[in-house]
Amino acid sequence: MADQVRVTVDRERCVGSATCTVVAAGLFELDEHDRAVPLTEVVSDADVVDQAAQLCPTAAIHLSPAD
Ligand code: SF4
Repeated sequence: MADQVRVTVDRERCVGSATCTVVAAGLFELDEHDRAVPLTEVVSDADVVDQAAQLCPTAAIHLSPAD
């Protein structure tokens, strides 16, 4: 995984479990509809956000190279 990754959340898949807000604290928050939103579009700590993506129960977190 690249050092920097672009993070998006598929709002249709997100069920608001908040796992990502714990695993990658400070990188995600839940909005008023209990859907996760990335706090920054490009993240430097690829490992932690990759872990959040793997632990998301609905595979709603998508990562791509930041380039
Ligand atoms: S872990 Fe997945 S389902 Fe849970 S809030 Fe984050 S993006 Fe949504």
